[in-house]
Amino acid sequence: MMTADALYDKLRRVKLGGSTCLYTPEKCEEMAPLINEIETLKHEKNAVILAHSYVSPEIVEGVADYVGDSYALSKDAMKADADIIVFVAVRFMGETAKILNPTKQVLIPAELNGCSLADSITAADVRHERDLFPDHTFVCYINTSAEVKAECDVCVTSSNVDDIIERVPTDKVYFVPDRLMGLNIREEMDRRGVRKDIQLWNGTCYVHEEYDPDMIRYLRAEHEGLKVLSHPECSPGVLHLSDFVGSTSQLLDHMKTDDSPAYLMLTECGLTARLQIEMPEKKFVGSCSLCRYMKANNLADIKRVLVEPQPQDFVTLDPEVMKRARACIDAMFHYAEAPSLS
Ligand code: SF4
Repeated sequence: MMTADALYDKLRRVKLGGSTCLYTPEKCEEMAPLINEIETLKHEKNAVILAHSYVSPEIVEGVADYVGDSYALSKDAMKADADIIVFVAVRFMGETAKILNPTKQVLIPAELNGCSLADSITAADVRHERDLFPDHTFVCYINTSAEVKAECDVCVTSSNVDDIIERVPTDKVYFVPDRLMGLNIREEMDRRGVRKDIQLWNGTCYVHEEYDPDMIRYLRAEHEGLKVLSHPECSPGVLHLSDFVGSTSQLLDHMKTDDSPAYLMLTECGLTARLQIEMPEKKFVGSCSLCRYMKANNLADIKRVLVEPQPQDFVTLDPEVMKRARACIDAMFHYAEAPSLS
């Protein structure tokens, strides 16, 4: 059972994020009973809660059974021994969980569950581009709908994108939907000496595209020894000035063994909040960027979908779309586990 004191003890360390992440003893007093109700409901319904690192800290610390990035959560979804998966993130991630767990019920609590990347491209767009580029292998970032995955050949995540693009046996790739990640892939392939024609779609993550090289230069001047960690959805200019680039899981792992005087995390600040709780001795600087979609999730909606889910809360997919999208995801697992070519 979670007490208000125990909850406050964890969450009081979260310092970024303005009022969204300002935790007081009174706020924890209000949240603790709801957290305990959700825990009881999970056991009664044989449900598990998967939460992305970007959702609010009270969800990550209070009710989540698994926390991670898209790739880690996709694998956790397959391992989950439960009848119901509550996927606290955004819709495309819930769809991926459903594709990997077709017999389980997958519920998405938030109404605002889009993603600026996933929403930038449709299945019809992919079909159109395939007509224009018939010889290209279509590689989609995991931040895409099930319908878009069904039209593509291989799925990738931010942790495996470079290795998979290197490994796919073709010299013509069309990468969707993240243009900035695509520009970073082109640079990485040049660095590895891999020659491929890489076409790009024009989507962006509205959170990561905001980061700016001038901000990094300013904060480096202010904080001696500052270490800058960024996500590959940021622009090439930002990555050039970063000390380490990786998915949220890779950033987290890197922090575990690093000992710098201060850190600037260039990714949604849910990850910084998690680090502030798990590594309270580390110092973080910079402002906070919140994803409005991830932060639309809350404890009340998680309880609501466990008690009385509405039709729109369930992830339901056309069986043919599921089958083709599954083939695209399986291709990712195949290439991600293939031996390195470099
Ligand atoms: S942070 Fe960006 S990529 Fe992630 S869900 Fe939000 S809009 Fe999509």
